[in-house]
Amino acid sequence: MKSGGFFDVSRMPSRCIVLLGAPGSGKGTAAAWLTGRLKVPHVSTGDILRAEMGADTELGRLAKSCGETGRLVPDRIITDLVEKWVDVHPRDGFLFDGFPRTLPQAEMFDEILKRHAIRLDAVLNLIVSRAIVEERILGRVVCAQCKAVYHQSRVPPRCEAICNVCGGALTRRADDEVGVFQERWRVYERETAGLVDFYRARGLVHDVDAAVDVGDLYDSVWKALTS
Ligand code: AMP
Repeated sequence: MKSGGFFDVSRMPSRCIVLLGAPGSGKGTAAAWLTGRLKVPHVSTGDILRAEMGADTELGRLAKSCGETGRLVPDRIITDLVEKWVDVHPRDGFLFDGFPRTLPQAEMFDEILKRHAIRLDAVLNLIVSRAIVEERILGRVVCAQCKAVYHQSRVPPRCEAICNVCGGALTRRADDEVGVFQERWRVYERETAGLVDFYRARGLVHDVDAAVDVGDLYDSVWKALTS
């Protein structure tokens, strides 16, 4: 097969991916689109924890108390969840969104991947300013059923409070309130932002300008993975 042809394997996008970015940088939106295109599972630790909250489990109650104040759930609990996920899913592709969130999580993730003989292919780093994120988060509404994300003024649903995709009810996330957002941002800067350097040192990071509309974000993440 000639290089550059349709089946040129060297041009195939990476499939074991981590998505980094501040709260509201568009990780969930980019992940939903990318996982559909790459046909790999989307693993959001935030969604897993929200499901636990919905089921009112012990973990759900802990996650709720952390989320309401913008704090992180303890590292060990999160990495146990991730290891359980990796144990029972195919190892040829995934997209982690919202994990890892701290240096200890990244180090434990390395161990998990090593134990399962998985190589991380790429880390997408979504870059956006705090002012833009604040505007996005304060207008964000999410489908309680399929998790599609809207914005009350910029990307409104066709019918008020109803998801275009599945007809589910749109709700606001409890942690999208101003005070909680401020704490989440502080936690992001203190705990998570440094992970970009951790992965950059290994040559895995692709920076993506995420201060753009959804269509351009999709183009940028795709280009980042295929260039
Ligand atoms: P997210 O939907 O990714 O913004 O996550 C919502 C909340 O779940 C966060 O504010 C944390 O309290 C918790 N959470 C999600 N992922 C993690 C993680 N990797 N480590 C610790 N806490 C997490």
